[in-house]
Amino acid sequence: MSGLFSIFVFMSQLSDLLIDWYSENKRILPWRDTQDPYPIWLSEIILQQTQVKQGLPYFNRFMAAFPTVQALAEAPEETVLKQWQGLGYYSRARNLHAAAKCVCERHGGRFPDTYEAVRALPGIGDYTAAAILSFAFRQPFPVIDGNVFRVVSRINGMTEPVDTPACRAKIKAFLDRQIDRRRPDLFNQAMMEWGALLCLPGKSAPCLQNPELCFYHKHCRALRDGLVEQLPVKKAKKAVRERYLHYYYVARPDGLYLRRRQANDIWKGLFDLPCIETASAEAPLPGLKRVKQYTHLLTHQRLHLFFYEAPRQLPPQLDTDGCFPVAPEHWADYAVPKVIEKFLDFLREKHR
Ligand code: SF4
Repeated sequence: MSGLFSIFVFMSQLSDLLIDWYSENKRILPWRDTQDPYPIWLSEIILQQTQVKQGLPYFNRFMAAFPTVQALAEAPEETVLKQWQGLGYYSRARNLHAAAKCVCERHGGRFPDTYEAVRALPGIGDYTAAAILSFAFRQPFPVIDGNVFRVVSRINGMTEPVDTPACRAKIKAFLDRQIDRRRPDLFNQAMMEWGALLCLPGKSAPCLQNPELCFYHKHCRALRDGLVEQLPVKKAKKAVRERYLHYYYVARPDGLYLRRRQANDIWKGLFDLPCIETASAEAPLPGLKRVKQYTHLLTHQRLHLFFYEAPRQLPPQLDTDGCFPVAPEHWADYAVPKVIEKFLDFLREKHR
């Protein structure tokens, strides 16, 4: 067999084996089997930092509240954030809203279909642009998410860290060669599903128990070389920043003050309580009772939240600019971070 011919056989084999496996094993999800870019885009943004199971009800709620890109563009930002409440990484919701406005203003309400125009929309990176263009417009841009990284690094037995620009470029070049040009939508969805359902991380990969469980076991270098559990290799993690947030409220049913977070920081645009941030867990204002404390993890930050009850009024040392009192029956009207919602639930119980 000539070299060229054997490469062709290998390439068509990956795509055919993969799409056959996918057709029989894929999950039925509402954003699949459609070529409408709006639900495709929405689902990709929701799933960027969220598991399918958790994201699905949000997707359905969002589509019910904003059935078209025009409806989303016209909604007030607070309504969009409220629908997003609990999903975290709120910049996704703000960007989604801003991008919907761009689609309406710059593109007459029709989702653009070129890489440059899609990539120029707020909140859309290489990954999401490739997903939208391949799923909605059948353009051959490979989608590379964490699952795809794992699969590609394993089938090729790549032992260098995958999260470096050089390795990313290698993986992209591999997928550019492999992508099925007639069915890029199916190829990409199948690659992602391969990583999500079959080629699972660490010890969970089923081929470790029985190679036959993976349709690609005969060609997988990680399996051949005993490297499945070790791959993909990642660079050492960035240090986690510890932050200490001390929150205050007054011990009366109407003593809760909220303020909208404006700074370019976590939770921008959401509401929380008047706060003092310090470098340690030590209470910055003496004599006030600490009633609750939570730890909340973000990607590179560990937040330590402390809640203090002031007897009659908010301590004068607090910066209360922009704070306003909110009665308990209106707490639910405001989009708050999940951990603040937890505290409000605790207060509700306490005052019941
Ligand atoms: S054989 Fe195992 S490691 Fe290789 S692709 Fe299949 S599931 Fe992944």
